[in-house]
Amino acid sequence: MHRDTTVFDLIIQEKERQMNGIELIASENFASNQVMEAAGSVLTNKYAEGLPGKRYYGGCEVVDEIETIAINRAKELFGAGWANVQPHSGAQANAAVMLAVLKPGDKILGFDLSHGGHLTHGSAVNFSGKLYEPHFYGVEEDTGVINYDKVEQTALAEKPKLIICGASAYSRDWDYERLRAIADQIDALLLADISHPSGLIARGLLNDPLEYCHIVTTTTHKTLRGPRGGLIMMRDDFENPFGYKNPKGELRKMSALLDSGVFPGTQGGPLEHIIAAKAVAFGEALTDDYMDYIVQVKKNAAVMAKSFVDKGYKVISDGTDNHLMLIDLRSKGLTGKIAENTLIKADITINKNMVPFDDKSPFVTSGMRLGTAAITTRGLVEEDMEKIVDLIDNVLSYHYDDGKIEVIKQEVNEWMRNFPLNK
Ligand SMILES: *Cc1c(COP(=O)(O)O)cnc(C)c1O
Repeated sequence: MHRDTTVFDLIIQEKERQMNGIELIASENFASNQVMEAAGSVLTNKYAEGLPGKRYYGGCEVVDEIETIAINRAKELFGAGWANVQPHSGAQANAAVMLAVLKPGDKILGFDLSHGGHLTHGSAVNFSGKLYEPHFYGVEEDTGVINYDKVEQTALAEKPKLIICGASAYSRDWDYERLRAIADQIDALLLADISHPSGLIARGLLNDPLEYCHIVTTTTHKTLRGPRGGLIMMRDDFENPFGYKNPKGELRKMSALLDSGVFPGTQGGPLEHIIAAKAVAFGEALTDDYMDYIVQVKKNAAVMAKSFVDKGYKVISDGTDNHLMLIDLRSKGLTGKIAENTLIKADITINKNMVPFDDKSPFVTSGMRLGTAAITTRGLVEEDMEKIVDLIDNVLSYHYDDGKIEVIKQEVNEWMRNFPLNK
């Protein structure tokens, strides 16, 4: 077969782009060569609907072993009692959980999208907002931090069946113990979606959601640095509180409901090549090297946030506990859209983001979100964060001066050439 240079030339171009730039999109990272090797393997050829040992297809002996390793490593990494490694993405993991525990029209309570929540936590344009009745909690305008008393008030007033915590742009840790106490008052289930900080949680750098939340979902490609994918976990399995029985008349376990929420509920065949890549990534995340990495991610974020504050930027909640930060650009007379479009000209990639109580549309926004997971994989440390903030401040201060930005871009490209994407 002839080499498809049309596509592969573009893949080379994309690799160049990733090599040359400073990647600060908080949800991105650089997977290792062995993670990508597994993701690009012959396992993509295999159908394996079902679970290890219980498949609807023959020839699954090898993929059964691989998926079992992925499950066991996920459990070891997070201290979980149960895991399903099949969700194709974070959104799919959340869809499977909601299909398993909710009926159409049920109430859910999630973190406000415009305060940093995720589409799958009840947005009107997402299945979660279309199929269920969404209610929201958010942060305080003056502190940028969640007020748990208000979460409790809303929960008691609305009595949602599912409370969702976790976010895409919240830089503070979560009080899972308090949320569980709130959920217990109204017999709600508590779901933590740790898609963003899962790597920090896995290695004990943030509070442990598995101790208090009934169900935990995550992506595997953000701070966890695996292939693009999703994962569902529980600390302890339990009988479902909805009275669903199996053919023997016994209450079905939550694990059984969640498994069937994934397949056949929301997915067909699992991506065994990606599951193999997840197994490799979980194995990597259990190493001392990864521990050093994720500690550095957190240190880098703290230094970056402080450097922005020192330069007069408004960092929401005045800092960060994790790998990301949200910056309100209104005090600098800028929008998120201008920041994103200008920084990309210097090969610095961030994303525009709504800030809490934003007066601009999601297409413009008043904020930008930055994270340190990807640049830390490339080997950057604290003093590099100060340099990055200098570069960003320079670009934003001269956002009207394309000549000056071109000079900064050259500097960025030359600098980043010294750092491999990953080993
Ligand atoms: C990224 C993210 C998701 C979605 O993950 P995809 O893999 O893009 O579907 C879900 N929830 C949260 C909180 C996220 O940050």
